[in-house]
Amino acid sequence: MLLDRYGRAATDLRVSLTDRCNLRCSYCMPAEGLDWLPTPEVLTDDEVVRLIDIAVTHLGVSEVRFTGGEPLIRRGFADIVARTARLRPRPQMAVTTNGLGLDKVAGALAAAGLDRVNVSLDTIRPDTFMAITRRDRFHDVVKGLAAAADAGLTPVKINAVLLRGHNEDQAPELLRWCIERGYDLRFIEQMPLDAQHSWSREQMITADEILASLRSEFDLSDHPDDRGSAPAELFVVDGGPSTVGVIASVTRPFCGDCDRVRLTADGQVRNCLFAREESDLRTAIRTGASDSELADRWRIAMWSKRPGHGIDDESFLQPVRSMSAIGG
Ligand code: SAM
Ligand code: SF4
Repeated sequence: MLLDRYGRAATDLRVSLTDRCNLRCSYCMPAEGLDWLPTPEVLTDDEVVRLIDIAVTHLGVSEVRFTGGEPLIRRGFADIVARTARLRPRPQMAVTTNGLGLDKVAGALAAAGLDRVNVSLDTIRPDTFMAITRRDRFHDVVKGLAAAADAGLTPVKINAVLLRGHNEDQAPELLRWCIERGYDLRFIEQMPLDAQHSWSREQMITADEILASLRSEFDLSDHPDDRGSAPAELFVVDGGPSTVGVIASVTRPFCGDCDRVRLTADGQVRNCLFAREESDLRTAIRTGASDSELADRWRIAMWSKRPGHGIDDESFLQPVRSMSAIGG
């Protein structure tokens, strides 16, 4: 198992397949993009699958989420999914994507064994989409969502970030749109992980604000199910069956129940989104480490996971890598 000294076990592996992206969401990266990882530093498909195999067969990982950057732009993605689906015990597999191009690949990904998708969509207004993502691609995301649902990649989940001055007043219309189409919507508090370091607590839209905005148009009641290690607080909308989630990473941290571990596209294990240290599995894999040596390194990396992200501490420092380079 991937245990830490506070008794948490990491069973949910987030695998970043690339740091590159075809959008430029302002809360994630600057308009000009970032210095992408040089290709030789990125794990090959074989290396990615080998590390997932070790995580699943040696370390108790039961859920694999592919992310990035934008994972759909990784050429070998469907093949990585198919090879992961052959592992035993077979892990649950999901992808977090901006939805661009999903209309073309949803069927193939489902056939390869992908179970679910999370699509990031912050607005249903094309002009707001353009302002936030700096690309005019709203309708492509909508097509991608429909294709995912048709392909059975369900429940289709939508992640939304609210930004002051852009879409802070659009939570109710986004929820209505998702309910009409059968998508599960979750709002995520903006975190200090943008490459430009422009996050500020004062500018962030809090979970309380999100809920107040939703309650202006919907009746929300606490969801009866125990939340477990899920980061989203769930609410039943207008008596059900629809729900909405709020991930209050900043104002109501859930670090005590965290079951996640991350592998970056260049083969670094991160025991937390906000970790300031990484463990280099790429060098180990390329210098001939055995599976059990790699598993041991991974266990050691997890053991030092800190009890919480400490965003509220005086001493908090944003990690050097930004969200798209970590794998959100
Ligand atoms: N490109 C894919 C996408 O957008 O879904 C996957 C990677 S993206 C980094 C993963 C998730 O992180 C997205 O849902 C995005 O909205 C979220 N995200 C990015 N920067 C964030 C930030 N500063 N605070 C909160 N969420 C953020
Ligand atoms: Fe790209 Fe996702 Fe970051 Fe937006 S949030 S810029 S889609 S990696």
